[in-house]
Amino acid sequence: MQDDGTTPVAYDPCRPIHYVLRPGNGPVGGEDLIHDAVDRVAEVTGLQFVYDGATAERPFDDRQPYQPERYGDRWAPVVVAWETEAENPTFVSGVIGEAGSQGVSIGDGPRVLVTGGVSLDGAAFIELLATPGGAAVARAVVLHELGHLVGLDHVIDAGQLMYPTTSTVPDFAPGDLTGLVALGSGECEPDL
Ligand SMILES: [Zn+2]
Repeated sequence: MQDDGTTPVAYDPCRPIHYVLRPGNGPVGGEDLIHDAVDRVAEVTGLQFVYDGATAERPFDDRQPYQPERYGDRWAPVVVAWETEAENPTFVSGVIGEAGSQGVSIGDGPRVLVTGGVSLDGAAFIELLATPGGAAVARAVVLHELGHLVGLDHVIDAGQLMYPTTSTVPDFAPGDLTGLVALGSGECEPDL
């Protein structure tokens, strides 16, 4: 939230969110799984996403939000990667996805999300997709992580997709959608 405690910290809805994918480690069809989930988030938030192709970078690790040598004179794109337990030790504990975004502001102005990362446990998704009904759960997990990416936190209502643990909720539920609509309706910040 912004300092007022009620306005969400969101991406600028007036410019597309660029994203890149680090190849490797993922399940068969993993790239489509990500693009389809991104399309769903675009549909419910109104935010626009643009896929910029592959990257050699991985998410997090004190990543700089501005990397002109790699991405040109703009905010670095969101990085999505299928990762190993060695790359993301959080996965050892049974977590299979992690995501978040970085916010910046000018002076006392509102904080605006400009880039972020999504880390998905490649081995866990390969296993999950081999189980009956696994494809729907895999999609739900990616949607949950993209919910974090655009600014949603966890909720205590198990009927929402943003409940912390994997459940039978296959897609964003009404509470999730209320938050996502708010996150797609931030202020335009052309000076950032
Ligand atoms: Zn979560």
